Amino acid sequence: MKIGLPKEIKVKENRVALTPGGVGTLIRRGHTVTVERGAGVGSGIQDSEYEAAGASMGTAADAWAAEMVVKVKEPIASEYQYLRPDLLLFTYLHLAADRPLTEALLNAGTTAVAYETVQLEDGSLPLLTPMSEVAGRLSVQAGAYHLQKPVGGRGVLLGGVPGVQPGHVLIVGGGVVGTNAAKMAMGLGAKVTVLDVSHRRLTYLDDVFFGRLTTMMSSEANIRALLPDTDLLIGAVLIPGAKAPHLVTRDMLPLMQEGSVIVDVAVDQGGCVETIHPTTHDDPTYVVDGVIHYGVANMPGAVPRTSTFALTNATFPYVLLLADQGLAALQRNPALMLGLNTYGGQLTYQGVADAFGMSS
Ligand code: NAD
Repeated sequence: MKIGLPKEIKVKENRVALTPGGVGTLIRRGHTVTVERGAGVGSGIQDSEYEAAGASMGTAADAWAAEMVVKVKEPIASEYQYLRPDLLLFTYLHLAADRPLTEALLNAGTTAVAYETVQLEDGSLPLLTPMSEVAGRLSVQAGAYHLQKPVGGRGVLLGGVPGVQPGHVLIVGGGVVGTNAAKMAMGLGAKVTVLDVSHRRLTYLDDVFFGRLTTMMSSEANIRALLPDTDLLIGAVLIPGAKAPHLVTRDMLPLMQEGSVIVDVAVDQGGCVETIHPTTHDDPTYVVDGVIHYGVANMPGAVPRTSTFALTNATFPYVLLLADQGLAALQRNPALMLGLNTYGGQLTYQGVADAFGMSS
């Protein structure tokens, strides 16, 4: 199969979807790989490394002309021109929160397999997990930084010091992002509360952290009760393939202290905080009712070297299946079939169809 690897052009996105090691493996199996010049530079990977692995180097148009294009982030408007009916696109898509892209894919008749909806039998999302681990860990770093006074925060040190109480981190959603955020926040010495609707998840967290964090059932009443004492709120909810529910509504913001911080990691699915909107690494925050909002939709892009290797460790086995077997790989692999979001001008993922009131 002809495989294309374009350079990511979303603001401050420095990850790349294949490593030279992956390219070499594909080529040894008889495939060809066209890499856009400079695709790996942001992750510290030089063109010469891809060339040494056997790739041909070219322009964005050359890479997009392949039968299968492997990317990291969803195509942005300037890339819609490359979508075509005989293209297989394998990347993060997050269509439920992106109507223009959904329409572009449907109009072009592109076959699009979304990393984030590939799902194993146990319900886990193997291609979301590594980036959720990165984003969860980063969310605490970002939140701790924005709590500092010189950047507009409350002036709270999350770990406190002897004789002064630590900051309180409230994590809404105790899945992969939430667990990794909890690990970092506890590592800093903060007081941590995790909310989830899954009792099993709360039990797991209580067990693995030996009761050093507080777990509570996620409900409007509990969120309202906790907000006045929250320095950093981390949004980490997911309903797979669908828009996140608004659990913190605008009328709740006055309950929070001025200069407290919200990092809504779920912003890529619309956010679980009503007042969140997507921001970029260049301008990551804005203030609503005195509360700092951080809504960077591609947080792992801030640490591209770590993220590229973490992501490709997880995606590469599926890239190989698609390259070797083409669309037949979807029929043979139920996890991969669940990744199919658009095919032949039709929406093929229920959660996305529901978000737009379309049929799938
Ligand atoms: P996950 O499935 O591991 O965890 C989600 C958790 O949310 C589950 O434990 C679930 O029970 C819980 N949940 C569902 N409804 C809830 C509710 N009403 N209240 C409280 N908890 C509820 O998902 P994850 O991998 O941790 O991802 C979380 C979010 O982070 C997703 O939206 C994902 O797309 C996003 N994400 C964003 C970035 C970024 O850069 N901004 C990076 C990675 C992941």
